[in-house]
Formats: sequence, structure tokens, C-alpha cells
Amino acid sequence: MAYCLQCGHQAEHKIPEGDHNPRLVCPNCHYIHYENPKVICGAIVIHQDKVLLCRRAIEPRYGYWTLPAGFMEIGETMAEGAARETIEEAAAIAIKPNLYCLYDIPHIGQIYVLYLTELKDGEFDVGPESLECALFEEDEIPWDEIAFEAVKRTLKHYFKDRQTISDHGSFPIHQESIPKDKGIKRY
Ligand code: ZN
Repeated sequence: MAYCLQCGHQAEHKIPEGDHNPRLVCPNCHYIHYENPKVICGAIVIHQDKVLLCRRAIEPRYGYWTLPAGFMEIGETMAEGAARETIEEAAAIAIKPNLYCLYDIPHIGQIYVLYLTELKDGEFDVGPESLECALFEEDEIPWDEIAFEAVKRTLKHYFKDRQTISDHGSFPIHQESIPKDKGIKRY
């Protein structure tokens, strides 16, 4: 059961007049609760050809490895969000951000924006949202324990791109849509 955020009355799912999608609508004050896709910003943080991964201390995907990433906050840019998440998850400073991967995940209403960055001074620790953090060589990546499809794809793009490109500023931007059949659940 859902209640109106505006007046507390019980709200109902219906298509508002002049609209074409069902929304949560309040029959009392007529407030329409729009739900739109969310932006998740993150960073692939590189140090001496290794990638910084964090093992999640929170649900969803507790215990799985991820790149620092999370929901964008109001008042920050996407790159600032990626830097903030890197601090929160790995107590690390991500510098020189370059836009790298963009993923549409329409069936769960998410957009992932990943920046290719470098690790300042090679320093990191374990943030409060992580069980452990570590730098991985390509052949050490725990592919079967990666938390999210967008993270897996970003790692694959990086290891492929770096075979032919050495300067991070010259990496291409990858833009993809991740379909429902990738086994992604809505968390
Ligand atoms: Zn209301």
C-alpha cells in the first residue's frame, strides 16, 4: 500500500489525464508521484596497471567485488559523484577523471556512468561500505564474483583498450544498453 508524500492519503496507480504511463496518483490532493531512472556514477581507478576493486559490505551483492560506484546525489556532478564513491568505498582519491563507459539499463531504470581515473599516490584503505579493497592485475580479477554486469563490462573494456592505447586520456567512450536477459535483478 502506498501513501501520498504530500498529504498522507492513500494513493492509487492510474494513468493521469494527458499521460500514457501509470503513475502513483493521490485522489485527495491530486499529487502525481513520478518515478524516473536513477544515475549511478562510479570510477575504474588505475594504479600501475592494476585496478582497484572493493568487496561489498552491503546488500545487494554482499561479498561480491565491485568498482566504487553509487547513486548520484543532488548538488554534485557525475565526476564528483564518482570521486565521492571512491572515498566512501576505498578511502582513496580518484584523479584525472575521463568519461569512459555509459550503460542504459532500461528495465530497472538505471544509467551507469563510469570514469577512467588514476589513484592518487597509490593510497587506499577499506571504506565503511567495503569488506576489503585491493589492486588487481588482469589475471587476478575474480570474474565469477563481480557484483554487477556494468562493472564486468567496464573491466573487460579496460583490459581490451589498454592493449592498444597507453594514454588514459585517449581511451574511447563505450556506450551500451544492457538488456534484461543478462540476469540482472532489480535491487
Ligand atoms: Zn495527496
